[in-house]
Amino acid sequence: MLIAGNWKMFKTAAQTISFCAELRKRLHGVRDVEVVVCPPYTSLDEAVRVLAGSGIEVFAQNAHWEREGAFTGEIAPAMLAEIGVTGSLVAHSERRQLFAETDGSSARRIGGALDAGLRVIACVGETETEREAGETENVLRRQVEAIAAAVDEEDRNRLAVAYEPVWAIGTGRTATPEQAEEAHALIRSLLDVPLLYGGSVKPENADELLTQPDVDGALVGGASLEVDSFVAICEAGARASRS
Ligand code: PEP
Repeated sequence: MLIAGNWKMFKTAAQTISFCAELRKRLHGVRDVEVVVCPPYTSLDEAVRVLAGSGIEVFAQNAHWEREGAFTGEIAPAMLAEIGVTGSLVAHSERRQLFAETDGSSARRIGGALDAGLRVIACVGETETEREAGETENVLRRQVEAIAAAVDEEDRNRLAVAYEPVWAIGTGRTATPEQAEEAHALIRSLLDVPLLYGGSVKPENADELLTQPDVDGALVGGASLEVDSFVAICEAGARASRS
């Protein structure tokens, strides 16, 4: 069971230090769940330092595919690894929708991050229009097949996929456990790696989502920004993995 918190463009370095110090204290002794935080680039160093030895891992929110080069504004996977970051999100729907990330560029980012030894959480999910048009299965198939093609067999143990229906991200509208399970079962049939659900996960709905047979964890946005709600979701993850 893996619970990852995507902070998006929230928290300064100073806020990161106090959040991580509190998180570390509150999760001490919580077993049966892997916990990851994904701060903005400017907070990664502080998060790694404050969480060192706690078992809580620090991932970036994106990574480029090259080791270095003329790519203004980008960060190489090896630069992340050097400061103790152990993985990265890739292809979050905000990257796909607001920053023109495609299946092709996402695949290259996933390949680059895995080649550098990082873990990857690759995101997929349909928009509301696609769901209403009955396109969910085709969209997921296309996105997951692009990811699968980018990953060598020996790197698969460092890959997880997050199913994040775009209509559920930051909207308070969560997929029902049945909708999440149906999408996860499809994804599992295409690529058998740990599958996280993301989209308005909160302490109130975490138990029913995390106990679905093909749900192996959660990618949490808004509710990962407060220690209380993030810890409650991590505890739900621990309960689900014991059930
Ligand atoms: C996310 O950003 O990946 C996400 C799932 O956000 P939220 O939990 O706020 O819907």
